[in-house]
Amino acid sequence: MPEAPVARNAQAMTDEEGGMAEQQQAAPGLTDRMRPVPDHGESSWVGRGRLDGLKALITGGDSGIGRAVAIAYAREGADVAINYLAEEEEDAQQTVEWINTAGRRAVALPGDLRDEQTCRDVVARAADQLGGLNIVVNNAGYHWARGESGLGGLTTEHLERTVHTNLYATLWVSQAALQYLGRGDSIIITSSVQAYDPSVSMIDYAATKAALNNLTGSLAQDLGARGIRVNAVAPGPIWTPLGPATKEPQAVANMGRDTPLGRIGQPAELAGAYVFLASPAEASYVSGTILGVTGGTPTF
Ligand code: NAD
Ligand code: MG
Repeated sequence: MPEAPVARNAQAMTDEEGGMAEQQQAAPGLTDRMRPVPDHGESSWVGRGRLDGLKALITGGDSGIGRAVAIAYAREGADVAINYLAEEEEDAQQTVEWINTAGRRAVALPGDLRDEQTCRDVVARAADQLGGLNIVVNNAGYHWARGESGLGGLTTEHLERTVHTNLYATLWVSQAALQYLGRGDSIIITSSVQAYDPSVSMIDYAATKAALNNLTGSLAQDLGARGIRVNAVAPGPIWTPLGPATKEPQAVANMGRDTPLGRIGQPAELAGAYVFLASPAEASYVSGTILGVTGGTPTF
């Protein structure tokens, strides 16, 4: 019997109002502590060889959107290196198992990308251990949305963590990857609906995502002559550890309820966008674009 469509599974995972139960955990958050545990496409993604023989690095590949992309990439035929924070080792090992189960090589590279040298080392080790690099997914991200919101609640500690993780690391990782990427290869950035519709609860985060949109355009122009494509995905509210680890419990429960589709999305529902943008055949003329996967909230 065929698998139920992912969107139907995702609908069934929410409560009647399209959200989740209130919950909270410490940053960066772990998958198995979430209720329900997110759907990363483990039982639904069917590969069709769209990334056969390619080598991918996914930052934040241990959990959430990154894990869903790792599973899909591996089933599409790519070898995959994931980067993550040391305290996320148990999540990373689960992702590694899924990549290996797909019959592909997995490389686990813990390291805090707020440090420039770590960014450069992660890229070098990924390329070295995979035997090259074709796809770089800049997906690691951070925000802090607990306590007082808006400008009054902004602390330098969280501002620096947000900007360094989201913006600096994307620049450092992408720059370090340049020596390995060539014609047909691509860089994918994880933006957010927050780039278009910023929330007062995460003003600094929204600003970094708007900056990443801008960067997608400039890098596409910069790297086009080398045949390297640069694109972004802008997710709406998605059920990943980031919510429970950084938002107030009530805000976690409300995620997605106000979208046109009326529910939070699952990480599995993002994988198709990342596979398409990475595919040298299907997206050969697609560069400088930002693909919204928002449950209907406009991104224009
Ligand atoms: P997630 O918590 O599963 O993934 C984020 C990952 O970022 C973590 O697993 C961690 O490994 C990594 N990370 C954070 N700080 C890091 C650092 N200093 N060094 C190295 N790695 C670090 O949550 P997710 O929602 O899958 O997040 C993935 C991306 O999606 C992020 O860029 C996030 O901003 C973006 N996004 C998420 C949502 C959502 O609702 N979940 C919506 C829009 C955009
Ligand atoms: Mg994680």
